[in-house]
Amino acid sequence: MAKHEGLLLKIDSKGNISGYMQENNNKIPIENTTIKNELISFSEEDFEEYSELQNEIRKVYRTYPDESEERFALIKKLTAKAEKALAEYRTFYGLLNRLMIEDFLGENDGTEHYLREYASYLDQIKTVQFFVLHFFSDLSNQIEIDVNEDFNYNSVQISTVFYFEDNKSRQMYHIRNLTEYYFLLLHLFVENGYRLCRCQLCGRYFVPKTKKKTLYCDRVLNNGKTCKEFAPKLKHRILANRNEVLKTFDTQRGKMYKRYERTLNTPDTVEKPLSFEEYYDWLEKSRTARDNYLEDKIPKEEALNIICIE
Ligand SMILES: [Zn+2]
Repeated sequence: MAKHEGLLLKIDSKGNISGYMQENNNKIPIENTTIKNELISFSEEDFEEYSELQNEIRKVYRTYPDESEERFALIKKLTAKAEKALAEYRTFYGLLNRLMIEDFLGENDGTEHYLREYASYLDQIKTVQFFVLHFFSDLSNQIEIDVNEDFNYNSVQISTVFYFEDNKSRQMYHIRNLTEYYFLLLHLFVENGYRLCRCQLCGRYFVPKTKKKTLYCDRVLNNGKTCKEFAPKLKHRILANRNEVLKTFDTQRGKMYKRYERTLNTPDTVEKPLSFEEYYDWLEKSRTARDNYLEDKIPKEEALNIICIE
């Protein structure tokens, strides 16, 4: 196990992130970014293809007999494929996933048991994303973040590397998995006192430039105008409808996830169990419906019918 591998990051007081990825003996620079941009773009990441592979893995576990060689070979192939798919989203996702598995599971001993554990760890990134979305939703609705409740049970330990530059002592974070990475960013987000708004037009999150209530973001739409420029031209009714669809989607997602979580943790107490596959199936359909509605491809009622299944 190469302990020096990982993501090495400098994060300054303005929230700028720079650094590199240490993989084996290669030092690979990463693009400069900021705390805000990293978290917001992660919250928008669509892990659809990756989810598909995980569903396939689950299907194999359900359909093939225990300990069969066929199953072992298939799962091995699929987990390798999933790991590769993860690295295609961001190069360092692949590395952080591998290091997490090394840190938590140790060396691959080639057993069925190891492989099964390995496969279960592949859910990590989506669990973290869900946490970020939950946090964003609270923050943008001005629901007070209960730091103890939200962060305590998920407290993470992150190593710091001390070094000298220009005769000054400096520090870098040494990150070994995705939970560490995004939790660190969330902590710093809170520490910097950033506010978060949800654009009432495109539905995406943004950090407002001023303390004033900001309804629309500066992203450029298909028509070449930003949300801020375009929104005032739309009728009040249209905006209210958009808001209703966005809010309904959020509330439903929260409910569906809770049902899935309860099915997993306390299956005996759940009236309407929801499997992981069912949850993701719903999520993908609803997300498409929401986006199609926002792009004027389907009417509001149709979108709401898809989102509000019971
Ligand atoms: Zn917008």
